[in-house]
Amino acid sequence: MFINGKWVKSENGTSYEVTNPATGEVVGKAADATANDVKKAIDAAYRAYPGWAALTARERGDILYKAYQLMRENEEELARCMTMEQGKPLPEALGEVRYAADFVLWYAEEGKRIYGDTIPASAPNKRIWVLKQPVGVVAAITPWNFPAAMITRKVAPALAAGCTAVIKPAGQTPLTACMLAEIFAEAGLPEGVFNLVTGKNPRMIGDVLLGDTRVRKLTFTGSTEVGKILMKKASDTVKRVSLELGGHAPFIVFDDADLTAAAREVIASKFRNAGQTCVCTNRIYVHWSIQEQFAEELARQVQQLKVGNGLQKGVNIGPLIDENALKKVERHVEDALEKGARLITGGKRFTGPGAEGGHFYEPTVLLGTTADMLVEQEETFGPVAPIQAFETEEEAVEKANATEYGLAAYLYTKDLSRAIRVSEKLEYGIVGINDGIPSTAQAPFGGFKESGLGREGGRYGIEEFLETKYVSVKLD
Ligand code: ADP
Repeated sequence: MFINGKWVKSENGTSYEVTNPATGEVVGKAADATANDVKKAIDAAYRAYPGWAALTARERGDILYKAYQLMRENEEELARCMTMEQGKPLPEALGEVRYAADFVLWYAEEGKRIYGDTIPASAPNKRIWVLKQPVGVVAAITPWNFPAAMITRKVAPALAAGCTAVIKPAGQTPLTACMLAEIFAEAGLPEGVFNLVTGKNPRMIGDVLLGDTRVRKLTFTGSTEVGKILMKKASDTVKRVSLELGGHAPFIVFDDADLTAAAREVIASKFRNAGQTCVCTNRIYVHWSIQEQFAEELARQVQQLKVGNGLQKGVNIGPLIDENALKKVERHVEDALEKGARLITGGKRFTGPGAEGGHFYEPTVLLGTTADMLVEQEETFGPVAPIQAFETEEEAVEKANATEYGLAAYLYTKDLSRAIRVSEKLEYGIVGINDGIPSTAQAPFGGFKESGLGREGGRYGIEEFLETKYVSVKLD
C-alpha cells in the first residue's frame, strides 16, 4: 500500500494473492489492509490537505502533467500489468491506459479554470462574491473493470481541485493501482496527497472511510447495489457523494441503418472488455423488418472475434473476471433459451486452445428475447447480445426507457430528425448516435435514475470536488 508517500505492508503483515483470470495463475500479491492502516491513510490525506490546497492551480497542474507524461512513457508496462490481473486484451488495455492518462492531462489544465462569480448585491454598500474551494479529503472506491481509468477519472479532478485522496481499488486489480501510485509519486506529489489502500475486505475499508468525519467526499464506481449501501452510510456524516453505478444500455437499430456499420458499433459497445463495462449494450432493439438480416450480420462479425488470453496477439475477447461472472452469463443464456429466445451463435463456455484455468465464454447472439428474461433485466456483464424486434419509434423508446438504469443508450439511423428526437427522449446520461464508444475525457460521464449521481470528465467532473462559498461584504 502507499500511505503518506511510502510503500508499506499491512500493519499485521497480511497480504493476499492476485490471480490472472485468463489462466488462474498467481501474478502478484497485495497488502491486506487493517482498519488502522486505513485510518493512517486518512490521517496522511488530512495532514497533507492544507498544504496541497494552498498551492496554485498551476503548481498542482504541473505535477499532474508530469504524471500524464509518465503514464504515457510507461503505457506498455501498465497495459501488460492490467491484462495480467484483469484479462482484457492487450490493445484494449493500452487503450484504457491512454484514456486514463487523458483525464490526468485534462485536469492538469482544468484546475486552472476554477472560476467564481460576483453577484450584484441588494444594497449599494454590499458586495457578494462566490468562491469555489476544494471539498477536502476524498475517498475513491473503484471497480476492477477499468483498473486505471476509474482511478484517474476520480483522482485527477480531485487533485486538480486541491483535494487529497485515499483510493481503494477493487480487490481483483490492485497491481495497476500500485503502478499508478508509483507514477503519481514520481511526478512529484507531496506525501499524503495520493494514498492507496488495498485489501480483500472492502466492507471494512469502506466503513472506516465512511465513518470518518475528516473524509468529506465519497466518489464511487461499481454496482448499484453497493452504491446504495455506500450512499446510506455516507449520510451519517453527510458526505458529498458521486456514484457511477450499473447500466443496462439499449441499442436501437432503425430500418434505414447500414447493417454492417450498425453491427460494427454494436460489437464495439457490446463486446468491449468481454461485455464487462457499465456502458456495454445489454438490449438490442432492431426494427422487425430487418431483424433476421441484422442478426445474421451481427453473428457473422461476432464469429470473427477471437477468444483467448489477452496477452496473445489477435485476441479480441478475454476471460470474464471470475467463475461467478461466468456462471451469471450461463444463467442468463439458459434462462433466455428456456423462455423462447433463439441462439444464433455462441451460447456456451469457450474451451478452445489456451482456455485452461480461465473463465471464458463464447461471444453469443440471441434473437427474440423478451422483457421477462434475465438478459433484459439484469446487467449480464458478459459477451451476450440479446436482440428483440420493435415496430414503431415510440415503442422502441418506451422499451429502451423501461428500466431503473439510465447510464448509456445507443441508436443507429441515417435520419437526422429521428436521431435528434430519439436522443432527446432517452432517459440516459449518455447517448451514442451511430457511435458505440462515446466515452472521452472531456465529456460528462454519468447516469440518470439508479445509474448514479454526479458526472465525471470535462469541466463537469471537477465540480464534484468543489464546494461553493459566498462571501458577503459590507463596506464602511
Ligand atoms: P463489481 O460488481 O464491479 O465488482 P462492486 O460494487 O461489488 O462492483 O465493487 C466496486 C468496488 O466497491 C470495489 O472496489 C469493491 O471492493 C468495493 N466494495 C464492494 N462492496 C463494498 C462495501 N460493502 N463497502 C465498500 N466498498 C465495497
